Amino acid sequence: MVKKRAITILTKLLDLKDVKVVGQRLHAGVGIILQTESMKSYSLCPQCGTKSEKLHQNHRYIIKDLPWGEKPVFLEINRRQFKCNKCQKPFSEDLDFVRKKRTYTKRL
Ligand SMILES: [Zn+2]
Repeated sequence: MVKKRAITILTKLLDLKDVKVVGQRLHAGVGIILQTESMKSYSLCPQCGTKSEKLHQNHRYIIKDLPWGEKPVFLEINRRQFKCNKCQKPFSEDLDFVRKKRTYTKRL
C-alpha cells in the first residue's frame, strides 16, 4: 500500500496529461512499474464523435516509459473500451501519450 502523498508526487513526476498514478512496485532486475489510470471518465467515439461514459471493458497492459536515472520505468495502463450509444459499437479510447498498438510512450 502506497501512501496518498507519495502517489501525488509520482503523478507529478510522471507528468502525463490526464493520467494519475494509483500504485507502484519495484521489480528487482526489471525496474519501476507504475500503475496508472486515466482521469477522464469518458471518451469520444471515433466514428461519430459522441461522448461515451459507458465502459465496455478494461484492457490493461504494460508499456515502457522514459527511465528514471538508471531504473527502467514501465507504465501499467488501461486502454478502456467504451460503447457508443449512437453506433452501438465498442471502441478503444485514445490515449494522448501512446499510439495504438505500441508498447512505449510517445516521449520515449
Ligand atoms: Zn458513435
